[in-house]
Amino acid sequence: MVNLKGKNAIVTGATRGIGLEISKVLAENGANVAILDVQLGDESSIKEVEALGVTCKGYACDVSNPEAVSEVFKQVLADFGKIDILVNNAGITRDSLIFRMKQDDFDSVLNINLRGAFICTKAISPHYLRNRSGRIINIASINGIRCQAGQANYAASKAGLIGLTKSNAMDFAKCGVTVNAVAPGFIRTAMTDKLAAENPDAIKKYKEAIPLQELGNPRDVAHAVAFLASDAASYITGQVLGVDGGLGA
Ligand code: NAP
Repeated sequence: MVNLKGKNAIVTGATRGIGLEISKVLAENGANVAILDVQLGDESSIKEVEALGVTCKGYACDVSNPEAVSEVFKQVLADFGKIDILVNNAGITRDSLIFRMKQDDFDSVLNINLRGAFICTKAISPHYLRNRSGRIINIASINGIRCQAGQANYAASKAGLIGLTKSNAMDFAKCGVTVNAVAPGFIRTAMTDKLAAENPDAIKKYKEAIPLQELGNPRDVAHAVAFLASDAASYITGQVLGVDGGLGA
């Protein structure tokens, strides 16, 4: 556990998967959470986070749309008063070999995974600069470091996100703001559960490739984010923390 009591966080792409788990772990550690997602659905994610005893509000927003992000961040700041933590988690995949990859598949992945993080970082910057404090945590991927076939768009977006993290860390270094990335490896999600049901051999192969011989859980990623968001990590900036069972070692 870390102490995030009284802190306010924005987590993008947070109605499900890793983003929801990050929101829950931040809340368990005392932070209030603004959940941003392209669609809020039945808002059950907001209720799940609220049930942990913090304030949680949902905002529908496409992170790749600068005007929408600007409006929503204004509203979040009006509702929460202050933001301490921004987690750029929203991300998509559109995998295929480069020979078959459509231009739109390349553009949309770069737009959301990389440009979306840039847009949200720009939107929070004036607030962080005024307060001379703040945390930015970008959710990258092992596939931005060690690549596999069929992910030219995704790997480029996540490698770009790592570059953005390091560069932004330098830009903000004199302003009391830290910028770090978490790079998950193979994490157990609805997608991997489906793959396990359809093709148990594929999951067996993934596990064999991982030094710790097991897939990670969204909670493993969330704990790394909570640590980087906490005062315990105040001297850490421009780093990429792998949560990958040793795959990136
Ligand atoms: P996920 O379950 O697909 O969740 C992603 C969330 O982002 C969804 O709620 C999605 O909304 C939302 N989103 C998509 N486009 C958006 C946009 N334009 N604006 C705002 N929100 C948007 O994915 P995940 O597996 O939890 O992954 C979360 C992050 O971790 C991603 O950045 C991913 O690249 C990274 N990661 C995941 C793994 C893994 O094994 N799962 C490994 C390494 C890195 P919709 O549901 O409406 O599409």
